Formats: sequence, C-alpha cells, structure tokens
Amino acid sequence: MSYDDQNIFAKILRGELPCTKVHETEHSLSFEDIFPQAKVHVLVIPKGGYVSWDDFSAKASPAEQTDYVAAIGDTARAIGVDKSGYRVLANHGHDSHQEVPHLHTHILAGQPLGPMVEDGTLPPGTDYVRKAEQSD
Ligand code: AMP
Repeated sequence: MSYDDQNIFAKILRGELPCTKVHETEHSLSFEDIFPQAKVHVLVIPKGGYVSWDDFSAKASPAEQTDYVAAIGDTARAIGVDKSGYRVLANHGHDSHQEVPHLHTHILAGQPLGPMVEDGTLPPGTDYVRKAEQSD
C-alpha cells in the first residue's frame, strides 16, 4: 500500500487538524487519542510518511527508528504511566483493523487493561498457525 498524504495523521502533522500534543521529538509526535479506549490513551506517530509498522520497519532510517522507539518510552514517562504500567499496541493491515494508514502506536494505561486480545482464546477448530507450520 502506498502512503496517502491525505490521511488524518498527515493532516495533524501539517497543522491542518488540531491535536492535544503530549510529547515531540525530531522524528516523532505524541498526542491524545480522540476516542480514548482507556483512561489514558495516547498515540505516538513518526513524522515521516509510513503506512504502518511493516512499512516503517522496512524503510525508515536508523535515526527515525531509534527516535521512534525512544519516543514511545519517553511519552509513557512524560504522561506518568511508567510505574503503574501500560500497553503498547500498533495495528498493521486488514486483520488488525488498522483504520488510519499512517503508523501509530497506541499507549493504553490508567486502569487494568484485561486480556491482550479480545476473548483471548482461539475459535474452536482453529489451529495455532505458527505451531502448525513448524510441525509440517
Ligand atoms: P487504529 O485502529 O489502530 O488505526 O487506530 C486509529 C486511532 O486513531 C483510533 O484509536 C482513533 O480514535 C484515533 N483517531 C482518529 N482520528 C483522530 C484524531 N483526529 N485525533 C486523535 N486520534 C484520532
């Protein structure tokens, strides 16, 4: 998928849409999610035009990647959730239900967050894919 510079986060980066900024570095911006799904819900995005984690990890420069990883940890400390704990989550592509095609990492915190994946069990009759591949 090629990068669409009309996506919401590209507009935020250009200052065409507002955001509630919580942290900024040379290559990254952190701001509050507009529809929070936990008491604390912040997004961290790279300033470069990358569709998702897949695109970013393949194409971003070492300086951008280093900045981004540090920015996620620095953001969590800046909003004061490093002691209580937090969840870091980045959706890539169809199966993950990624909605905005500009890489963003969610920081969810401020409450017990429950299981990592909804329900947390595989549907009946579903094999764990990696295990199935390894036993072939
Ligand atoms: P995802 O499903 O991983 O693509 O998540 C997209 C996230 O972007 C959702 O949590 C939305 O609430 C959030 N979002 C959409 N528009 C905005 C906006 N203008 N400002 C802040 N967050 C937004």
